[in-house]
Amino acid sequence: MDVFHGFADAHATFDKAKYVIFYLPYDKTSTHRKGAKNGPVEICKESWNFESWDLKREIDLGSIDIHDMGFLDVSNRTSPKQMVNEVYETVRKIVKADKFPVLLGGEHTGSVGAIWALSELVGDFGVVCFDAHLDYRNDYVGEKFSHACVLRRAAEKIGSDRVVSIGIRSASEDEFNDAKSDGTRYFTSWDVREKGIIEIVENALDILSVNKIYLSFDMDGIDPAYAPGVSTPEPFGLTPHDGLTLIEVLAPYLIGFDLMEVCPNWDKAYTPCLGARFVREVIMLSHKHLKGHKLHRK
Ligand code: MN
Ligand code: MN
Repeated sequence: MDVFHGFADAHATFDKAKYVIFYLPYDKTSTHRKGAKNGPVEICKESWNFESWDLKREIDLGSIDIHDMGFLDVSNRTSPKQMVNEVYETVRKIVKADKFPVLLGGEHTGSVGAIWALSELVGDFGVVCFDAHLDYRNDYVGEKFSHACVLRRAAEKIGSDRVVSIGIRSASEDEFNDAKSDGTRYFTSWDVREKGIIEIVENALDILSVNKIYLSFDMDGIDPAYAPGVSTPEPFGLTPHDGLTLIEVLAPYLIGFDLMEVCPNWDKAYTPCLGARFVREVIMLSHKHLKGHKLHRK
């Protein structure tokens, strides 16, 4: 059996770290394809693929203080609500210590706990959700803590004017109508194709009009041709370069990040590798902007 080494170059203790990575091995409410609970292990394995020094940023990831907190104590026997609460408590601990949380999933539902924790500890902030799906159902087969309800739970907590989704190309008629009547804004993958990712992300920042952003990155926002290893693949998606540019534009504002829905049972060859690279980019780019600044203080 393989020995698990966690995320590459995450060597710091909790106390010293600026970034804290932790893992959500959970996919109980996943519907179409199961296996996202195995996402974190495969993302971590692939993280060792890369040089610690980054050619584009001219930074060594090993020079950044990153702590690997390991796995949350959850399994599919844990209720979705309890799982969200575990994420909430963990992000609370990280943010209270003035550190940047990085959550690797696991099903998208876990993001709700992170957003709830931030809503209590951080002043005005917005959520940018990168996703193929609107995730705006009130409940899914009776469950309010479902991967299909993430944006709805976020909007309820922090206000529909504080969330924007990018990459959308799927919704039910009901959630479409609900988002419309709540004034919840989103940009489709076709909007991105027409206007370019930079203009769309800048529009999202204008809508949110806050200088602190939590980025929730559902891997299925990327086209399944590039990232087939997701629970609910949806054609006509964005490219890895779009994902990278989105991170570059948002980096100065980021206060936390999650990368969810990587489902390696359907592709181990590339999707976890791309996911690991996005995690590195978020840490390296936000680190450049964070130097000398306090993260979460109002
Ligand atoms: Mn999705
Ligand atoms: Mn989602």
